[in-house]
Amino acid sequence: MKKYLAVAVTTVFFLCLMTMMVFFMLFRDTSSEEGILTSGDNPDGTLLYTENAEELYEDDEVLPGKEGFFCIPIPDGTKKEDIGIDDRKMDDMTLISIPAEDPDYYYNHNLSGSKVNIKNIGFGTDNGRVIFEIHTDGVCVMTSEISDRCLYIRYDRPHDIYDRVILIDPGHGGDDSGSEAYGVREKDITLGIAQKIGNDPEKTEGIFYTRPDDSTVPLKDREEYAEKLAPDMLVTLHTNADGSTRITRGVEVYYNKDELKEKAGKLADELSKISGGTEKKVQKKKQLPGFEESDIPGIYVGAGFITNKSEAEMMASQEYEEKAAKAIEEIF
Ligand SMILES: [Zn+2]
Repeated sequence: MKKYLAVAVTTVFFLCLMTMMVFFMLFRDTSSEEGILTSGDNPDGTLLYTENAEELYEDDEVLPGKEGFFCIPIPDGTKKEDIGIDDRKMDDMTLISIPAEDPDYYYNHNLSGSKVNIKNIGFGTDNGRVIFEIHTDGVCVMTSEISDRCLYIRYDRPHDIYDRVILIDPGHGGDDSGSEAYGVREKDITLGIAQKIGNDPEKTEGIFYTRPDDSTVPLKDREEYAEKLAPDMLVTLHTNADGSTRITRGVEVYYNKDELKEKAGKLADELSKISGGTEKKVQKKKQLPGFEESDIPGIYVGAGFITNKSEAEMMASQEYEEKAAKAIEEIF
């Protein structure tokens, strides 16, 4: 009797073990798909996702002349203009879309090269294209090159490649227009100035933006991005409004660190000059508006009063935006 019991227990044990193994094999892939599916960009069918970028590489070999780059093989005949690259710096992520008729192409063509600053990579298919989702370790600058067989990509940490890192924050944007008067919107002025900063090639390097276009970016996200980027200086751009009177005009500049006092003064002088010698106020504030939680050295610019008709019209002009952008560049 004891012998039968032993056989029964052993059988049950092995049956359990086999069931567990089958479950593991069945559901292993499903769980590893979750990472990329959360992006919502390629809902139909994920091929592979890995938490660890290493799993996608066949070797660590450094490609000759391509140190620091990694290679995403591209199918024969792929043209440069067919490849889509969506650099989402604020999310530490890049989406790359490559036309591939054979969805299994990337099962047979592995990535290779440098994995520096890459946290994980996923890829999936979407309408005859393969979408790569690349996550980096923190904010990175992406460089890409296309050859006949590879899309070469590398990621660098800003402070490793630039002498100084500046974060420009064009106030408001998207659903949030900021203050508005005489058909002029604060969000357009701040973006207009921001987009003209860095046109001088000497000054372009190391400049980052909380929003590059008219998109809605919550204050919390801007602050988080600033914390991650840890710029040497933050410049947050706004215009002023006075609801009680349309006469108030002038420039307001705040700074939060003593070492920025001189720069803030210089910027206020210059902006006031551009505005035709208006009043100016320079003040130290413990916290910059919109960045109350962070301790990053920064300057707040209240360029002028949108509620003052002549200032609103002036600030909306290309000429003013160009001059203001230049004045801001001068303090970098
Ligand atoms: Zn504002």
